[in-house]
Amino acid sequence: MTVAVLALQGAFAEHENVLKRLGVDCIELRQAKDLETPYDGIILPGGESTVQGKLLKELGMFDTIKEQIENGMPVLATCAGLILLASEVEGQEGCHFGTIPMCVRRNAYGRQLGSFHTVAEVKGVGEVPMTFIRAPYVAETGDGVEVLATVDGKIVGVQYKNQMAFAFHPELDNDTRIHEKFAAMVRDK
Ligand code: GLN
Repeated sequence: MTVAVLALQGAFAEHENVLKRLGVDCIELRQAKDLETPYDGIILPGGESTVQGKLLKELGMFDTIKEQIENGMPVLATCAGLILLASEVEGQEGCHFGTIPMCVRRNAYGRQLGSFHTVAEVKGVGEVPMTFIRAPYVAETGDGVEVLATVDGKIVGVQYKNQMAFAFHPELDNDTRIHEKFAAMVRDK
């Protein structure tokens, strides 16, 4: 089993470290030709969704990844990654991959003071540490979207078919259970 980590910008190395700890093989997606290497799941890391979206298009990677996701490739998305998957971004024209029917609010906790840490329940995992960095939250979910986590009444984790998305950064805390849940999903596909 091989997991591909989108490695254009942001916190991709941290995801790779977690995968290594779990003994999961990983490759980096840096350019279009990397998409030809066989892999079984994709991680979309945190960073800046606008930058990532732009690079994905400029590097000719966007359409292939969108198709892979639509065809059932398991995806774990964190923070900016969650924004890439959303079908609607509040106050913005259009979306990126748009493969999860939901509306997200970017920088939902304020730009300057928007970083915080908490512990909360993730469905099927238990209480996990959550680090939020200029994080979005999910303002609205569409049909078929399962809410996996909320913090202060705001949705911060969802699953839709083969896609799991979190507003926080599980790769930055010393707790590998979310990646384990994802690895199990890839294995069982
Ligand atoms: N604020 C970023 C965005 O809008 C997300 C922040 C993050 O990934 N830590 O893309």
